[in-house]
Amino acid sequence: MTMKSFHKIWIAPLIVAILMHAPAVRAQTKKPNVIILATGGTIAGAAATGTQAGYQSGAVTIDAMIAAVPGVGDLANIKGEQIANVGSQDMSFDILIKLAKRINDLAKSADVDGIVVTHGTDTMEESAFFLNLTVKTDKPVVLVGSMRPSTAVSADGPLNLYNAVGVAADPKAKGRGVLVVMNDWIQDAHSLTKTSTTAVQTFMSPLRGLVGTANYGKNDFFKTPGWKHTTQSEFDITNVTQLPRVDVIFASLDMSPDLIDCSVANGAKGIVIAGVGNGNINKAAVHAAANAVKKGVVIVRSSRVPTGSVGRKVEIDDDKFGFIASDELNPQKARILLSLALLTKRTPEEIQKLYYEY
Ligand code: GLU
Repeated sequence: MTMKSFHKIWIAPLIVAILMHAPAVRAQTKKPNVIILATGGTIAGAAATGTQAGYQSGAVTIDAMIAAVPGVGDLANIKGEQIANVGSQDMSFDILIKLAKRINDLAKSADVDGIVVTHGTDTMEESAFFLNLTVKTDKPVVLVGSMRPSTAVSADGPLNLYNAVGVAADPKAKGRGVLVVMNDWIQDAHSLTKTSTTAVQTFMSPLRGLVGTANYGKNDFFKTPGWKHTTQSEFDITNVTQLPRVDVIFASLDMSPDLIDCSVANGAKGIVIAGVGNGNINKAAVHAAANAVKKGVVIVRSSRVPTGSVGRKVEIDDDKFGFIASDELNPQKARILLSLALLTKRTPEEIQKLYYEY
């Protein structure tokens, strides 16, 4: 073999190999940029052993969390920021307002393609819904948490975080409102709720079902939620520093109406009642709630039942008493919507319309 023909033999495959890898090299340089905003929760929790039930939420920093997810850097260029480090039972409107403002700032940057928020699962549905109404971007905003602390046997946090980054980096996730990614499921902020105190498969969307699935960074989207959110939302928290007090009161057999009086006496501007059945309360509570309306307090009837919607004037004459029906929002999300609605003066009819739209 001559030197010339020898070169031909190995140069040709080399050129083919370089050409084959060129798209991968280009794709790598075009990797999406995802920011992870950490707020705490079990995903950042630590216990002394891998099998104990007791642990401390919000003990691990964002950098340690990212380091615990092998391969996540292949999905996106990632930067982390610590916004808070609390168990989500201690999540507050102060932190949420700060978080929403930070997301709105980041989303304006052409260098940011998606945002992940790590969060405890206890109040994740409320924070997701709050952000769904207050962030002004169609870029993916994805909440993620875990049911097991980072030190547990079979900790679910690392894969959840991997999948959340995969969704935030996916252009197909755009325009679907704030999403939650947990245990391979993609769900929307309006419809999901926590259904188990301990099971890994805790989040469900009983009425509306899944937005899609996330499988090791590969996503399948089934639908876009129909509710108003993000860029279509009329709620603007740019100049807001606190929200009006709205209480949730849990109804039960032979409930005491004093709970409603107490809430009004302590300055609530709105009360959401987690009613029985289709948002019902006993006659004494209807009387107390009607008195609250006369004092300018907005009463929203939701339900303690986990699925179904609350309709107007089924067994309670909402027109007569001036009550609002929560439609599909559970009590904790009905409270978020009412807190934002009360930032501006609105008639009961206008507030009722919000419950049909958001
Ligand atoms: N209390 C914890 C929290 O919400 C537990 C729930 C969790 O993150 O799984 O932060």
